[in-house]
Amino acid sequence: MSVDASTRLIDRLARRSASYADSPWAAIDPHLSAHPDLIYFGSGAPAAELYPMARFAWAAGEVWERLDPRELDYGELAGYPPLRELIVKRMVGLGIDAGDEVMITSGSQQGIDFVAKLFLDPGDVVVVEAPTYIGALQALDGYEPDYWSVPMDDEGIDVREIRRRIATTGRVPKLAYVIPTYQNPTGRTMSLDRRTALIDLCAEHGIAILEDDPYGEMWYREPPPVAMRGLSADVIYLGTFSKTMAPGVRVGWMVAPAAIYDRLLLAKEATDINAARPMMREMYLSADGFIDGHVAEARPFYRRRRDALLRALREHMPPGTTWIEPDGGFFVWVTLPVGLTAMDLLPIAARHGAGFLPGCLFYPPADAVDDSLRLSFSSLTEERIEIGIERLGRAIAEALGERVS
Ligand code: PMP
Repeated sequence: MSVDASTRLIDRLARRSASYADSPWAAIDPHLSAHPDLIYFGSGAPAAELYPMARFAWAAGEVWERLDPRELDYGELAGYPPLRELIVKRMVGLGIDAGDEVMITSGSQQGIDFVAKLFLDPGDVVVVEAPTYIGALQALDGYEPDYWSVPMDDEGIDVREIRRRIATTGRVPKLAYVIPTYQNPTGRTMSLDRRTALIDLCAEHGIAILEDDPYGEMWYREPPPVAMRGLSADVIYLGTFSKTMAPGVRVGWMVAPAAIYDRLLLAKEATDINAARPMMREMYLSADGFIDGHVAEARPFYRRRRDALLRALREHMPPGTTWIEPDGGFFVWVTLPVGLTAMDLLPIAARHGAGFLPGCLFYPPADAVDDSLRLSFSSLTEERIEIGIERLGRAIAEALGERVS
């Protein structure tokens, strides 16, 4: 195709395609090659050392050995029944009685897309935590919502602020998307009282709640408060094997209220007909009788990495830098000394050999502030964490020096 013809094609795209024009990573990637041995705190992936390779290999062998050709037909729209049962059983431990309304998804990311697809017309209001998960914004953006970015405090999203905005604007959001437990990116956990307050507010106004819970099992002190889906059967809940087993296999799940469950199934059918049937069997065989022990071993492993990061921050951060100590999950949210922005710091830090995700990426663009950054400790060794944070400390000191002079 000629250059002219392809330019014309770009002009013919739907309005929603504008939300796919720029990758959130485009602003970061060029800096990451600035140092030959850059220590990158940006990845939200688990530690590769913990991927259960041997278990997956065994399960894959078993599955293909036993598979009936009919199991390679289309089918199992809700998912492979034994895998759904395993998920339902494990969710009891999180305080969730899922009943039969569980659907296997291609990661929780797909669940966000389906819920957005079902609920959002252009211009509908979606409540998100400020800041929130980049990938959720990517999924929601395509449905052209208006965002209400609602600040958080130590107990989570400010429910009174949502109430105030409803009162002052006369608008009622369609959807509230929240990550109540070990939030991405702040590491914060919503208190039980706040969970209840949000559920009450949403029930009062008919707002759908989407609870995204990829990190709930990764607690390092004591288990978190009960999932919001455990407090109200009206909550739509997303779970995933991405953090407990491996993200690349793309197996997650959604628990939905009965009233919308059938529509979600048909949204799944419309998108990809069904999840990969051999993969669901491989995940079932791998996880059954294994995953609880695996998670129990992963907790102290990640706790040590979190502790190494917090120790290094105490030692190396210049005065005026603050951070939130998470009780679980993969992230520490660091707020910079007044006047520094994370985007300005990024090239300086990269030159010193440390990379991170600037805070401004975690907001809808209209609401973005850039006084903070996200550090992930999941995929770096304690030694690399220590070296990387020392480099980051030097970079912040240099940036502060530049600002003063
Ligand atoms: N939600 C949140 C809050 C996440 O942090 C992530 C992974 N970074 C996802 C969803 C996507 O997870 P999955 O691999 O299950 O699609």
